[in-house]
Amino acid sequence: MQKPDPIADEFYMRRALELATHAEQCGEIPVGAVLVQEGQIIAEGFNQSIMLHDPTAHAEIAVLRAAGKQLQNYRLINSTLYVTLEPCAMCAAAMVHARVTRLVFGARDAKTGACGSVHNLVQDLTANHQLEVQPGVLADECSAQLSEFFRRRRQEHKARKQAEKAAAATVGAVTPKVQD
Ligand SMILES: [Zn+2]
Repeated sequence: MQKPDPIADEFYMRRALELATHAEQCGEIPVGAVLVQEGQIIAEGFNQSIMLHDPTAHAEIAVLRAAGKQLQNYRLINSTLYVTLEPCAMCAAAMVHARVTRLVFGARDAKTGACGSVHNLVQDLTANHQLEVQPGVLADECSAQLSEFFRRRRQEHKARKQAEKAAAATVGAVTPKVQD
């Protein structure tokens, strides 16, 4: 068991939130992650699925890959992974493979969360490794960032549809004149 340290947890989650903001600035869904070992950030990652045309390019996968390279080891022993959103099944399984010791996440994901919400793959006793899990660190900020992002995206989508409709109406109005 690693000793929980709420101040350190918030500190590293703030960094994950910054990385999530960076993801959003790149046009991605804002999710950020950092991996910490012995009080040091070993690697950072953010969601890059759209940019890389890669369905596996979640923030957690990015941070696991970068940490493995950094440590020259695919086993990330004595590490804590911080991520702004509850990991999905793919990322949960990857963290088990990597032997991450502890997972700290911000917002719960009621639809695809695989670390306690829909499934709990990181504490599955039939697997050969279980993680300690600390949910809800800076949960309000993490979930506000995501819901604000989706709200804005819905608005943009609606505005685009309206503009398309207006453009189509203009074309329709012009067409009869052309036929005359
Ligand atoms: Zn994932």
